[in-house]
Amino acid sequence: MLHDAAHVWHPYTQHHQAPLPVPIVRAKGAWLYDANERPILDAISSWWVTTHGHCHDHIISAVTEQAKRLDQVIFAGFTHEPAAALAAELVQRLPRGLSKIFFSDDGSTAVEVAIKMSLQSFANRGAPRRLIAALDNAYHGDTFGAMAASGRGVFTQMYEPLLFEVARLPDPSVGDTIAALDALIAERGTELAAVIVEPLVLGASGMRVWDEQVLQDIRERTAAAGVHLIADEVLTGFGRTGPLFACERADVRPDLLCMSKGLTGGVLPLGATAATEDIFDAFRSADRAKTFFHGHSYTANPIACTAALASLELFDEESEDDRVRVEVAHARHLEALRGVKGVRAVRQIGTIAAVELEAPSGYLSDIGRELAAYALQEGVLLRPLGNVAYCLPPYCITDAELDLVYGVMHRFLGGARADALSSGGPVDD
Ligand SMILES: *Cc1c(COP(=O)(O)O)cnc(C)c1O
Repeated sequence: MLHDAAHVWHPYTQHHQAPLPVPIVRAKGAWLYDANERPILDAISSWWVTTHGHCHDHIISAVTEQAKRLDQVIFAGFTHEPAAALAAELVQRLPRGLSKIFFSDDGSTAVEVAIKMSLQSFANRGAPRRLIAALDNAYHGDTFGAMAASGRGVFTQMYEPLLFEVARLPDPSVGDTIAALDALIAERGTELAAVIVEPLVLGASGMRVWDEQVLQDIRERTAAAGVHLIADEVLTGFGRTGPLFACERADVRPDLLCMSKGLTGGVLPLGATAATEDIFDAFRSADRAKTFFHGHSYTANPIACTAALASLELFDEESEDDRVRVEVAHARHLEALRGVKGVRAVRQIGTIAAVELEAPSGYLSDIGRELAAYALQEGVLLRPLGNVAYCLPPYCITDAELDLVYGVMHRFLGGARADALSSGGPVDD
């Protein structure tokens, strides 16, 4: 694709050495098809967004009809049925206590909104708190506030001097988060506005699964200290960990909850932040300065909201059965990988399975790129996070298709490699 190389700057891509990107022309179910009609199995849900499968008829026809009726309208001073209906449907399914929905564009903006809502709610009530606490190894997005909340590493170190102060808590998959939180609250509890977490799995830092009890303890400590709990469910939302939201697994009710990725079934970009009535009330005032002065041009785009509504309708019993089936198949495959030479650890939560490879760890590890190149040559899209390979598929993936994914991992661990690292594919980070 001539114009791509000439004019397109790709995300997370080192253009000095990246192989040419693979042109995809269509997709269906768990499969992508390139310009030569070569099928590629999408084992990572196209960056964690596709839930029911690509080009699902129910979502596509709803979107098509909506696009003919109302494409876009300003969302301040105006409203429309898709947004109102979607807000109501989300509130019905979210952890109890979350009753207001603020729409935005993506996961990063959903996080920015949650952080700003927490900070301003304290300020509006005349008792400002300015400190946010976040987990080591967290990932909350690439905008500045989201970067500040994210763990420090190769994605953020460049901007370090410009990021606002965040109190860091140990990664609960390896450290004692609660002891550190207790100490933080004892020392700076009245400054602390919110604790933000990726509930039960730190995604981008390598699918690090953590304990439900720790999430419950964070909720208990924050509630007692009058501190907000922000659940960033941008990855975990919409069934990835089993139930619709990871907070449900731990029976935890956060004050703010961020959604994006699977919100529209992976069809259109949309972000949403759910808030409690209490937070919303802090902004209701005769004083106009207490308004939440935040909004995006495309807030609550009607076509995107329609996709999300149609996607929610697909979370029925059949989808639940699919997710259970994927979960069971993952467990079986991971058991077979445990102890295989080259495998350091395996982990799973719901439909997310991860295999940590023996290799220097870290996002810039080469082994992941080698695996991605080999998988692509074999017709499977994998995109390891450093030395952590994972399978995070659309729920429609069949057992036979999962066999293909794990077959690739086994052959790679057995020594198979791509003919050339530059044989194509999104292997460069
Ligand atoms: C992907 C992700 C984000 C950022 O979402 P974008 O849509 O890429 O901006 C935020 N939080 C978590 C947990 C994510 O996985």
